[in-house]
Amino acid sequence: MDFTAHSNLVTADTVAFFKQSHHMLIDGKWVDAISGARLEVHDPADEKQIATVPAGDQHDIDLAVIAARKAFELGDWHHMRPAQRERLLLKLADLVEANAQSMAEIESIDNGKSVTVARYVDVALTVDFFRYMAGWATKIEGTTNDVSAPFAPKNKFVAFTRKEPVGVVGAIVAWNFPLLLAAWKLGPALATGCTVVLKPAEQTPMSALRLGELIQEAGYPAGVVNIVTGYGHSAGAALARHPGIDKITFTGSTEVGKMVGKAALENMTRISLELGGKSPIIVLDDCDPAVAAAGAASAIFFNAGQVCCAGSRLYVHKKIFDRVVSDLSDLAVKMKVGSGLDPSTELGPLVSRAQMDRVCSYIDSGIEQGASAASGGARFGSTGFFVQPTVLVDVNPMMRVVQEEIFGPVLVAMPYDDLDQVAAWANDTTYGLSASIWSNDLSRVHRLIPKIKAGTVWVNCHNILDSAMPFGGYKQSGMGREMGKTCLDAYTESKSVIMSV
Ligand code: NAD
Repeated sequence: MDFTAHSNLVTADTVAFFKQSHHMLIDGKWVDAISGARLEVHDPADEKQIATVPAGDQHDIDLAVIAARKAFELGDWHHMRPAQRERLLLKLADLVEANAQSMAEIESIDNGKSVTVARYVDVALTVDFFRYMAGWATKIEGTTNDVSAPFAPKNKFVAFTRKEPVGVVGAIVAWNFPLLLAAWKLGPALATGCTVVLKPAEQTPMSALRLGELIQEAGYPAGVVNIVTGYGHSAGAALARHPGIDKITFTGSTEVGKMVGKAALENMTRISLELGGKSPIIVLDDCDPAVAAAGAASAIFFNAGQVCCAGSRLYVHKKIFDRVVSDLSDLAVKMKVGSGLDPSTELGPLVSRAQMDRVCSYIDSGIEQGASAASGGARFGSTGFFVQPTVLVDVNPMMRVVQEEIFGPVLVAMPYDDLDQVAAWANDTTYGLSASIWSNDLSRVHRLIPKIKAGTVWVNCHNILDSAMPFGGYKQSGMGREMGKTCLDAYTESKSVIMSV
């Protein structure tokens, strides 16, 4: 393990965290995998190993589910009142905020992302979301109903519905926003009174383990949050098919999401799935080309394009297409590529060698099928998992680079003629997570919004997320919504009570 290169770039808290040995959190204790196996964690900017964590499997998942079940059915958590759950979540938010810089550094070293982005997006949104969900803990309501029961005309009834916590939640998350994605699941679970078994991605387990320490410091009873590190095919699959969980909430690829969904259905485990995307950016002819280019650059290159809602297909009206592509390519070429710990970095590495190879092979496939690179088009450097910010033109809707999620800093750009045509093209993938429209022509914007099959439509912005706004996908981008009041439904069951009086 070599942490020397990082030591003078990060706070003492981060150095101390990486120097300790790392364990999983099960039933309030830090433990190793029963098998003793461990997995290596690498910094994607220099490829060096920075830690090892337990490689948990089915046996560890079993223990974590038992602990979560016990905490859900018995003990302090079971008896805790909503206002106490609210206070605990607020305390957790305060602790994450107090440790924001170190949390951001951990995320940056583990995932490769810019430490500034980690601090002001990942960590800030996590704090904000915990606070937002804390407020809901005391506002979970059912209804009172006047029932008619036509077959019992002489009886009187009192009827109401209760919202009850769904139970033990299995949460599996991806590596692109490790802390934030975990928070999106923990927030509503803890607000509603559920207990959790969290499985972070094998590439990026570190911030979840640090969060586990803060969860303990906040005073959550043992077993309320369990964190099992391990591979998807073992720990993740064991959690998805476990008969002891009541709900599975998954963020990751559509391919794995389908497997998780099928496994969960065997036990009628409740499911929510946040999956992939191939989001369109639609630029109307009234848009200032420089604004469109800057907007598209930030839509695709933010977090090195490893964003489920990244704007990865650019449709520009043919009148301004050349100008937008030229401005965008200039921006791409000038981007500072480097380690996330360097404050001047604008584009960090991809998370792993496998992801870098996958992205490069997509670029190659586009070029083989006739596309040309207006900028980028290859790996950047020879150490670290960097890919040049890439804009592909001369593409057509049949190409894999237009249809499939690349999950890297690669944009395909196409000219269009009219609004109906661009709406049809925008919808012409299996995904439906998000879209953005760039125009100040309100009438045309409002006519376009209902035509776009996506869970979020931004206008003159992209990648703007807020705790109060539901987020999720149409079509194969997923099932259910994270954030907003809506997400409470996914963590509660509705119970109808009818009393004859
Ligand atoms: P992935 O599907 O490979 O892995 C996601 C998680 O699933 C990881 O924790 C992994 O260990 C686990 N996993 C893998 N195989 C499993 C199995 N057989 N059973 C159970 N769990 C398993 O995805 P990824 O490559 O880590 O993440 C990138 C994907 O995530 C992209 O498609 C991206 O669009 C999507 N994503 C979606 C959202 C959203 O909110 N819609 C947010 C972030 C990322």
